[in-house]
Amino acid sequence: MIIGKIEKNEKKIKFHLDLSCRKCGKSVPGGMQTSENYYNSNSFKIEIDNFKKTYLCGICRDARRIKDHLKNK
Ligand SMILES: [Zn+2]
Repeated sequence: MIIGKIEKNEKKIKFHLDLSCRKCGKSVPGGMQTSENYYNSNSFKIEIDNFKKTYLCGICRDARRIKDHLKNK
């Protein structure tokens, strides 16, 4: 997964996040990438915080998508 934007000529940083689904609590290993500039910025830390707080695993994300879909009918 990519956090922020990586411009073509920017150096990529690969890092690992321990993610857990905020719905079912399943932990998911997160292989992440971002640009070197963004990695050192404050907004990066905020985005990672928010990302972890709102993270849903694939199963819960699909379940929510189906629910939303039925609701909109
Ligand atoms: Zn889940």
